[in-house]
Amino acid sequence: MTGWLRTWLNGEGEGAAEPPEASLRELRAAKDAAEAANEAKTRFLASVAHEIRSPLNAIYGYAQLIERGEGKDALGAARVIRRSAEHLAHLVEGLLDIAQVEGGALKLTREAIRFPEFLEQLLAMMELQAQAKGLALVLERPERLPEYVHADPKRLRQVLINLLANAIKFTDHGQITLKVDYRNELATFCVIDTGIGIAPEDASRIFAPFERARGAAADRPGVGLGLAITQALVHIMGGEIRLASTPGEGSRFTVRLMLSQPLSPPADPVPPPGAVTGYVGRERWVLLIDDDAAHCAVVRGLLEPLGFQVSSANDGATGLALAAQVQPDLVLCDVALGAENGWDVAAALRSRHGAALRIVMLSGETARPPTPDGPADDTFVTKPFAFEVLLEVIAEQLGIEWVRAAGEPRTAPAAPPAPALHVGVPLVVVPLVVRHCAEIERLVRIGHVRGLEAEIEAIAALAPETGPLVDRMRAALDSFDLKALSNLAKMVRDDAA
Ligand code: ADP
Repeated sequence: MTGWLRTWLNGEGEGAAEPPEASLRELRAAKDAAEAANEAKTRFLASVAHEIRSPLNAIYGYAQLIERGEGKDALGAARVIRRSAEHLAHLVEGLLDIAQVEGGALKLTREAIRFPEFLEQLLAMMELQAQAKGLALVLERPERLPEYVHADPKRLRQVLINLLANAIKFTDHGQITLKVDYRNELATFCVIDTGIGIAPEDASRIFAPFERARGAAADRPGVGLGLAITQALVHIMGGEIRLASTPGEGSRFTVRLMLSQPLSPPADPVPPPGAVTGYVGRERWVLLIDDDAAHCAVVRGLLEPLGFQVSSANDGATGLALAAQVQPDLVLCDVALGAENGWDVAAALRSRHGAALRIVMLSGETARPPTPDGPADDTFVTKPFAFEVLLEVIAEQLGIEWVRAAGEPRTAPAAPPAPALHVGVPLVVVPLVVRHCAEIERLVRIGHVRGLEAEIEAIAALAPETGPLVDRMRAALDSFDLKALSNLAKMVRDDAA
């Protein structure tokens, strides 16, 4: 801002040179915009203060009651305190995001991402959360999607996760669909739910910070920053976000973004490892100690399919009793166990079971508290965690090696004819393999990659003689050549007919 402009805006313009008429108009517009921004900032800060005050009051009030020994229900009080603290932590995270976006400090990266794989991973991240509420989570995508697009993967993921997490949160029955289309470099993502819906009068309001729909939605946890951040990110990426909803029936959030395709595939993409499907060695027992039943369900849902025996306890005493009973190899213990402190439980476990028992502490806090007498636990993981992170820690603690779905080769071999089913496959097994192939064709149509992986592995287990066929199917899936995979499945069916 030039010196005379500042003076003029401050109304101290006596004697200053008169700016020309057009500049005056521009200056007035700039001044109006600055005033509006200032007002918005004041309103925003008032909302922040309001949002901080209620959880803070709860923490302050309950803490004083406990201190005076007047709290009748100390466990209940501790729960309120923990929830309030969690609410504050989310608030701080959201505010930091908003500050970064609004302050223009957010710099987008532009990377060539493997588009279908990116979508699959996204769905895999949300799958257990949906499962825990009994909701189906479906990816609907055209058969042909570009293998690579340019995008900022972190921010695109943040946008879609925010929308999917909301869809799960505000839906009690039915299905969440992520529908993806791509035409002329324009990617359209629709997150569709069959949830409580949004009233027309709330539809534009909820995109503003701290605004939440009234009525049934208000009871669900949240601070009202997710959509504001999502919208800001979409705008920074040069896209648009729209909402269509019918109360009682569901909502559809549509995000449109230009995602260009690289002219040539990036050189030497590092092949990501295949998904973990199990581990080598004897069966291991894992004990979860967490008072959040939903979190237990999520971790159990991750570990059981990998071949772990999982027991869970929702408080320290039950955890200690179960540990004595099942002698687990590993304990995953939440730090905030209602009124109890997870560190105390870990110390008791360590003194009873010695160093052979591996203990991993899970906590919503980012910093590990100092433990002067030496930590009772073996390691510490911050919640929320990516499953890959937890798996890495588990492998390290238990010294186990993962079995992964085939990760290599990443390119589908060019076309010698598909191996035929009649080579060595027992006749009784043929109809079963054919059924799996039909399922593969169906799953290709809806782009359900995890399902495809499972079907291919099922064929491998059913008929080891089909090794070469299975290898080609895995290769096609690894390179996301779903058309080739579908062709292979169809050839097998034709061959068996
Ligand atoms: P939060 O989820 O933390 O409340 P958001 O900014 O993400 O904050 O969402 C703001 C509000 O928009 C929510 O409180 C809810 O009222 C409404 N909302 C968002 N997504 C949905 C959805 N899929 N179904 C119904 N209501 C929704």
